[in-house]
Amino acid sequence: MSLLVVGSVALDSVETPFGLKEDVLGGSATYFSTSASFFTPTQVVAVVGEDFPQAHLEFLKARGVDLEGLTREKGRTFRWKGRYGYQLNEAETLDTQLNVFQSFSPRLPEKYRDAQYVFLGNIHPELQSQVVDQVKAPKLVAADTMNFWINGSRPALLKTLKRVNLLFVNDAEARQLTGEHNIVRAARAILGLGPQRVVVKRGEYGALLFEQEHIFACPAMPLADVFDPTGAGDTFAGGFMGTLAIASQLNSETLRRAMVMGSVMASFTVEKFSLERLREVTRSEIRARFSDFKRLTHFEELGPQEG
Ligand code: AMP
Repeated sequence: MSLLVVGSVALDSVETPFGLKEDVLGGSATYFSTSASFFTPTQVVAVVGEDFPQAHLEFLKARGVDLEGLTREKGRTFRWKGRYGYQLNEAETLDTQLNVFQSFSPRLPEKYRDAQYVFLGNIHPELQSQVVDQVKAPKLVAADTMNFWINGSRPALLKTLKRVNLLFVNDAEARQLTGEHNIVRAARAILGLGPQRVVVKRGEYGALLFEQEHIFACPAMPLADVFDPTGAGDTFAGGFMGTLAIASQLNSETLRRAMVMGSVMASFTVEKFSLERLREVTRSEIRARFSDFKRLTHFEELGPQEG
C-alpha cells in the first residue's frame, strides 16, 4: 500500500569522535525514504534549494523513491549541523538553517492524496498538519518530532498530535514533551495527547512500543562499530512504516515485526557516515540481520520444574 513522507531533505555537517563530514546528504525524508525503499516505493514531499546536488536526487530515484512531490526552489537547501560525543545517543545541534523550508507550503500531487500510510517527518508541525489536510483517507498517520519544535512550536505541535495515530520520539523528547521523567509515564502521557501508539527510541538501548494495553520492547543490535547515529531515527521509521505498508493487516503482530525491521535498518545506518551504509546494504544482509535479531531475543518459556 502507498507510503508517503513529508520531511527535510538536507545538507548535514556532522562531527563525531570518528571524524567530521561537511554538507553531506541528510534530512528526515531522505533517511526515511531510502530505508523504506527496500520495502515499497515512497512518495516524498519536500523542498531543496538551487545548491542541492542533482546526484543526490538521482540516488533517491535509483532507489525507486517517487520525487514528484519534491520541488526545487530559489535559495539554499535546509542545513543542519550537529555534534556527538563518545556517548553517541544524543546529538547536540550546533546550527539549524531552515532556508527554503521557511517559505515552504507543501502541495501534494493528486496521486499522493490516496496514500494509506503517512509519515510526518521532522519539520515544522504546521507543515506536518498541512499534509494531513491533503490526504484523503489514510490508514495510519505517524509522526516524528524533535526538541527544536517541542520548545519552539509547542502549540502547533500539540495540534498536529491530535491528528496523529502513532508518534516516534526519543526518550529525551518524550520527557521534554510531557514533563514526565519516567519513560512509561511519559509514553502514557503522550497517549493522552492524541496518538494511539507511541514508539520511544532509546538509541543503543533499543526501542519501546506503547499501545493502550501492551508494551513491546526491541533491543538495538549490539554493534562493535558505531560511527554516526545521524538519521537512525528516520531510518528506523522507514523500516517500520515500509514493513507496515506491505503487511496484509495492521495489528499488534505486524507492529512488532515493524519494530524489529526498524531496528534492523537503523543498525545499518549508524555503521557509517551519512547514507553511506544504506547505499550499499543488500536485501540479503537485511534478512540476515532480521534473523540475528530473532536469535538475539528468543528464549523458551520456563518448564514445570524450573521456578
Ligand atoms: P535523526 O533520525 O533524528 O537522527 O534525524 C537526523 C536528520 O534530521 C538530519 O539528517 C537532519 O538533516 C534532520 N534535522 C535536524 N534538525 C531538523 C529540524 N529542525 N527540522 C527538520 N529536520 C531536521
